[in-house]
Amino acid sequence: MKTPAETKAKPKKTVKAKSIAIPKLGPIQQALKNHLIFSSFKTSEAATPRDWYDAASYSVRDHVVERWVQTAESYYRDDPKRVYYLSLEFLIGRMLSNAALNLGINEELREGMDALGRSLENAIEFETDAALGNGGLGRLAACFLDSMATMDIPAAGYGIRYEYGMFRQSIENGQQIENPDNWLRYGNIWEFQRPEATYNIKFHGHVVKYPNDQGEEIQHWVDAEHVIAMAYDVPVPGYGTDTVNNLRLWSAKAAREFDLRHFNDGNYEKAVEERNATENISKVLYPNDTSVLGKELRLKQQYFFVSASIQDILRRFLSTHEMKTQDDWKILPEKIAIQLNDTHPSVGVAEMMYQLVDVYQLPWSFAWELVVKIFAYTNHTLMPEALETWTVDLFGRLLPRHLEIIYQINHEFLHMVNHHFPGDAELLQRVSIIDENNGRRVRMAHLAVVGSHTVNGVAALHSELLKSTLFADFDRIFPGKLTNVTNGITPRRWLNQANPGLTALIEKAIGSGFKKDLTQIKKITPLADDADFRKAFAQVKLANKQRLAAKIEAKTGVKLNVNSLFDVQIKRIHEYKRQLLNVLHVITLYNRIRRGEKGITPRTVIFGGKAAPGYWMAKHIIRLINDVATIVNEDIAVGDSLKVVFYPNYEVSAAEILFPGSDLSEQISTAGTEASGTGNMKMALNGALTIGTLDGANVEIKEEVGDENIFIFGLTTPQVAEVKASGYQPRDYYNSNPELKQVLDMIADGYFSIDEPGRYKVIVDNLLNNDQYLLLADYASYIEAQDRVGKLYQKQEDWTRMAILNVANMAKFSSDRAINDYAKEIWHVTPHANAKAKK
Ligand SMILES: *Cc1c(COP(=O)(O)O)cnc(C)c1O
Repeated sequence: MKTPAETKAKPKKTVKAKSIAIPKLGPIQQALKNHLIFSSFKTSEAATPRDWYDAASYSVRDHVVERWVQTAESYYRDDPKRVYYLSLEFLIGRMLSNAALNLGINEELREGMDALGRSLENAIEFETDAALGNGGLGRLAACFLDSMATMDIPAAGYGIRYEYGMFRQSIENGQQIENPDNWLRYGNIWEFQRPEATYNIKFHGHVVKYPNDQGEEIQHWVDAEHVIAMAYDVPVPGYGTDTVNNLRLWSAKAAREFDLRHFNDGNYEKAVEERNATENISKVLYPNDTSVLGKELRLKQQYFFVSASIQDILRRFLSTHEMKTQDDWKILPEKIAIQLNDTHPSVGVAEMMYQLVDVYQLPWSFAWELVVKIFAYTNHTLMPEALETWTVDLFGRLLPRHLEIIYQINHEFLHMVNHHFPGDAELLQRVSIIDENNGRRVRMAHLAVVGSHTVNGVAALHSELLKSTLFADFDRIFPGKLTNVTNGITPRRWLNQANPGLTALIEKAIGSGFKKDLTQIKKITPLADDADFRKAFAQVKLANKQRLAAKIEAKTGVKLNVNSLFDVQIKRIHEYKRQLLNVLHVITLYNRIRRGEKGITPRTVIFGGKAAPGYWMAKHIIRLINDVATIVNEDIAVGDSLKVVFYPNYEVSAAEILFPGSDLSEQISTAGTEASGTGNMKMALNGALTIGTLDGANVEIKEEVGDENIFIFGLTTPQVAEVKASGYQPRDYYNSNPELKQVLDMIADGYFSIDEPGRYKVIVDNLLNNDQYLLLADYASYIEAQDRVGKLYQKQEDWTRMAILNVANMAKFSSDRAINDYAKEIWHVTPHANAKAKK
């Protein structure tokens, strides 16, 4: 048998990197003018606001490029261990203002624009969000990129360049309408196409087996179809450093422009069709948060980007390391760490084995040792509907060789388990990578756990629950493999950029060190007792609420009272997040106001978030919110005391206005369901008080800010389990609580849907007969907590004092802290300053 041509490692000669000489950049004002002419071909008079956005972006980009090139050079030259963050989602948002801020040229840019008679704020509005993610998981990946660059961690992100990102939501007749997100329509100044960085990705075909010279069985993947992955690079500038890391996003291109067979048959259209089918792989982001559909195209997306990334990672490694003997490969885990953001990229474990064993012909067990030292896996959810599995049939058709590899991994794993826990057949069934009970499926989470050296949950509670429930068996089999890294958010985007007023106030008090070292923010603690500081803090909040109110009026036509309590719940719409519980409170308040109760604190309840297009109940909840808003807002008996708004198309750029304008942060998921949450952190960092359950990172927020500075309510995780185990009867709560009964009856009887009285009966029936997320069990406790919130808001000084103490105690929730944890405990990498660029 012949050796496949591609199987021998091709050691590259080590070439000395040549420094690229970059011309000195002039003042930004000049750059703006030049780019208007040379990049946009516009005179200042003819330039549209979008042209000014383009000119500003090009001008800032020029400053990124120099550091970007030098960062890459310094990694190449010094060869530090690198981290590769693999994620199917990066919810980046806008780039211009963030890049200008991180590079420290924000003020210069603003002044340059001003001098030319243009407003930077206007220009910024012309940037379409890069919405390559669903929600928290994708935004976490974006925050982590910011922190890794800021902390000089040699790192790169890998993902997919979706042509269409998260759908754009509009509300028509109260209902969600999904519109395609054609975010690349006007081009993307922040990406660089790399036609030279392409890889062949194989699908389908079959496996042939034959003995090699030593008589061992060799497997070879043949007759596969090919797709090309082409790289697009996006710069990730760190804050207050010269490090600019890389985010590499893959786009699918047809391997051949046209299939000549069809062409010769005269079937031109068929040829074009096939080309389109191939390129569909990177066409659109799947808009499902916390649930999976098992669609073939989704698995194709996962393998497509993972294979391209791993080929790229190995290519980079081999370009500077000569593999003369097998032993030379031992340094691979000392040079690369791969983090799997959820199970979406977990086929990477099999792909790395494929590359090492089939392509580079390393012995199986030697390769496996390397793989486990390289990979680490972050789990994001305990919810069964979110755990990815693929039928063996689908997986085997798409990736026949990888299915064989997974069988082999599983065989050896089960053998090991059986050795340590002899005779426990049920244990073997439970932990097997192949689920034999549901029509044979590949369990991607099990592949990720077995193939990683470390598995982390994303908040203390979540990680404990992982150990005691979902991964309890694995915790016995691999003691110490399971750990926790609590999520974080980047203070650059979520404080500095989103809330310049608060940032300036803090900076005036304690200096600017907190931006890069959030532990310093603790220094504002004594200022909570300083009346002048409180006044200034309250003024900033008011200005942010005015900014938000103006935006809401423009979008929805609803005029808000900025002195009312802004009570905000913004996140994906999901039953477990319990937007519906919030609605029950809104209607309770409405009834109290109509009954003429005195002393009710005026409130504005703001909702925002997208529902997965196929998630009927979530969409129905959006409709209910809008129907309730219509009735409440038009009721003259209510007036200014209560307003309800649904903010359409919640996305990162909207979040940047919503968080700073919030007084109250709604974090009310059923205990044990929200892995961490990061919206809770953004809220508190912007001076909103939290009303929440003891769920996810709320638990740790409470620990940091103190019990007296947060509104906790509801059942705890063990209590939820108890209630469910002892035959939960939601109807008992309905029968024994007259306020609750009135609210549910109104919804069921069509009070908010006069044109179709039965519209929401299904929601109420579901609550009375099932109530999986225990809304009725938590209702009374929630209302009581909301009453405390309302009372406190009337004591503005006390409220502001508490808000300041929340901000002061947010250090733990910086993504810099999280990345430091990953770097030390999981990746074993150290910062590598881009010394070359230092001036
Ligand atoms: C932070 C963020 C999320 C996550 O919010 P949670 O409240 O943690 O679910 C989702 N979407 C966007 C746009 C965000 O900025």
